Amino acid sequence: MNTTQPLQLLAPLSGVLMPLDNVPDPVFSNRVVGDGICIDPTSQTLCAPLSGVVGTLQDSAHAVSVTGDNGVQVLMHIGLDTVNLAGKGFTSRVEIGQRVEVGQPLIDFDADYIALHARSLLTLMLVVTGEDFILIPAQSSCVESGQPLLQVSQGTQGQDAQAQQGSVLFSKALILPNDSGLHARPAAVFAQAAKGFDADICLHKQQASANAKSVVAIMALQTGQGDSLQISAAGPQAEQALEALTQLLLAGCGESVRAQPTPEVPMCVEPATPDRWQGVCASPGSVSGVVVQIATQTLEVQEPGAGIETEQALLDQALNQANQALKALQSESAGSVQAQIFSAHQELLEDPTLLEQARNLIVEGKSAAFAWKTTTETTARQFQQSGSALLAERAMDLSDVGHRVLKLILGVRDHVWDLPEQAILVAAQLTPSQTANLDTSRIAGFVTVGGGATSHVAILARALGLPSLCGVPEQVLTLANGTPVLLDADSGELHLNPDPMRIEQLQASRDRQLRRQRRDLEQSALAARTLDGHRVEVSANVGSLQDVEQAMTLGGEGVGLLRSELLYLDRAHPPGHDEQAALYSAVARALGAERNLVVRTLDVGGDKPLAYVPMAREANPFLGMRGIRLCLERPQLLREQFRAILACSGMTRLHIMLPMVTQLSELRVARQMLDEEVRNLGLPQTPKLGIMIEVPAAALMADLFAPEVDFFSIGTNDLTQYTLAMDRDHPRLASQADGLHPSVLRLIARTVEAAHAHGKWVGVCGALASETLAVPVLLGLGVDELSVSVPLIPAIKACVREWDLRECRTLAQQALGQESAEQVRDLLRIHSPTASPATLAMEH
Ligand code: PEP
Ligand code: MG
Repeated sequence: MNTTQPLQLLAPLSGVLMPLDNVPDPVFSNRVVGDGICIDPTSQTLCAPLSGVVGTLQDSAHAVSVTGDNGVQVLMHIGLDTVNLAGKGFTSRVEIGQRVEVGQPLIDFDADYIALHARSLLTLMLVVTGEDFILIPAQSSCVESGQPLLQVSQGTQGQDAQAQQGSVLFSKALILPNDSGLHARPAAVFAQAAKGFDADICLHKQQASANAKSVVAIMALQTGQGDSLQISAAGPQAEQALEALTQLLLAGCGESVRAQPTPEVPMCVEPATPDRWQGVCASPGSVSGVVVQIATQTLEVQEPGAGIETEQALLDQALNQANQALKALQSESAGSVQAQIFSAHQELLEDPTLLEQARNLIVEGKSAAFAWKTTTETTARQFQQSGSALLAERAMDLSDVGHRVLKLILGVRDHVWDLPEQAILVAAQLTPSQTANLDTSRIAGFVTVGGGATSHVAILARALGLPSLCGVPEQVLTLANGTPVLLDADSGELHLNPDPMRIEQLQASRDRQLRRQRRDLEQSALAARTLDGHRVEVSANVGSLQDVEQAMTLGGEGVGLLRSELLYLDRAHPPGHDEQAALYSAVARALGAERNLVVRTLDVGGDKPLAYVPMAREANPFLGMRGIRLCLERPQLLREQFRAILACSGMTRLHIMLPMVTQLSELRVARQMLDEEVRNLGLPQTPKLGIMIEVPAAALMADLFAPEVDFFSIGTNDLTQYTLAMDRDHPRLASQADGLHPSVLRLIARTVEAAHAHGKWVGVCGALASETLAVPVLLGLGVDELSVSVPLIPAIKACVREWDLRECRTLAQQALGQESAEQVRDLLRIHSPTASPATLAMEH
């Protein structure tokens, strides 16, 4: 029964008012439980904000709800994560079902104890039945207990669920996995999911039942770990609701829980969750397996410290242990991408800014755990909010290292994952430390909600040759462990409960692919010559000496792109002349006098920051001080690099390449600097100097650049993002940001034409060159060199051998006239000699 009379809610305690947005807990700040207000308490008794009946009172007495006579239900939650205190510090003064009058004391609490032992004392008052309300204007941000606080309009919400809507379906019995039962946070997650279905849904514990769409009602069930629960549903989406909510409950409702056995199959026929999820390919391939959810451990920390010296010693010891552990991990994975990542983590442990910030907090009286957690989390958040995909990934590294040290401070052991065979790991995000603890022989693939094609998990997956999808919808985290899935990263899809026919087809195509790979490898030493005898150079994109050595064994004919910035990233100081010269010389020696080495000068900037080059935060780092722009602003950096590169002059066919060139003046200034350094060193000849074509302006002006360069190399990754105005790492634009778009092809055509008119060669070193489908169109446009991802060298060489250049030219002209990238892809697929699915780009 509702009325339209406004209802006043009184402040349940004294304290300082805060909007919910500022509460450091997304369950509350996102209003998942309900809308309301937060108070930082100065009194220690929680009183009834309205007259009514006590609906919920947690055993631990940290939360209570009162339902008014008009159905408005108000939940009060004292502190954050106070469920973990198991009742310590709280004394309830009422019972469930008891009638209370406005202002009557409900719970006494020991503010000092809670402040010391829980995450926070911030107390929430939330209107959980969803009525609108306004804040009653006050003189200041402080309120006194009993002062009018909110005015609630009634009459819009508050209906009870469980209307009869046809027959009621029941799930089988489900064992609740959450350590602290369904307290506020998991209850809110469960209720929110239930609200998404057009059905009346109840959660049952023994004889008691709760409306599954009401957080308060769920909390009132007083569930605990191991309780046997059942879900019932009636209405149009009853079956879907049962399936999804069963899986959610077993997966912990957003909390990290122990792996559960395959879920009891609910009584519904149709699956509630979609049977296919879309993501973005982070590593190609396809495989079938079973879901294993990998959740991050939540760690509780106390804010106050036990003295500066004690806490600092604790932090130092943990940093030391973390350092040792990272060293050990590096030597276990020597030479791999993992080792590079752990070395970057080691650098972070020594970062003076982080250490100083943590130290300052300890000096202010905070615990080592609090100081370290706050410092790393705050910095990681700043990285995340920078708007740069690369910085956001550094944020993940920082959180990972932060978590590692925090566990050591708190003495928490690593979770040991017991993986089944063919495990497909599903996670919000996978950190290097998490994957380091896993038995990779049992992993069949990765699926993550976050991360891009350059994230850690993507790099790891490619290194292991395992398929991986990123950018998958968050609901994937509700899939139960053990769910059979087919991960088809090539088409960006995850299929649930796939039919055996599909698995067989995929297996057959995988076998064909393997046979082809073996054949390509056997022939990798042969030249890449088209059927009508046109020779194309296939060289490698590398970042290290190991890459160069591997490229040589796979038939690489030179290095078309040495990404020198890898030497500069994730360290506190720039690499010195000798360190740089040692790398360039080692690479030059490995290649020998007859092969090309193209060293790209430092390509960093707003999107790939350097600790030792302080830069203002940029709103659009990809449009900011990147590449040559940064180097010309700090000419010393570029001069030093030129000198180091020149150290290998004469050892190989040396080429220097400038990234992100937009203006002719940039090329001219850099050339002058290079000439001066060559003169200063008394070298007999200047190495070849070229530019990357990755800014549309440079492609459009290629006829003016061509007379002044020795070569062009087209960076299709950036050229595509700048031409189409689509961030190259944007997960939702990934399928559209396609280098085969006719606009990008037209820029390539124009560049080649201008270069050849002046007798200069053109390479392509962006990911498009590593895509077999793109090979004929690039050949047809006249590209002279393809610089590709090392593992794909044999496949690209084999692909060149399958085409006739005249046919490629015709196809290229047709491609230029298409309307979209999809049309170009269709055209190429139809004409492909093998008509096989395209090899997906490995580096994008
Ligand atoms: C490119 O932009 O295509 C390229 C090769 O450079 P990077 O991917 O390193 O920006
Ligand atoms: Mg680029």
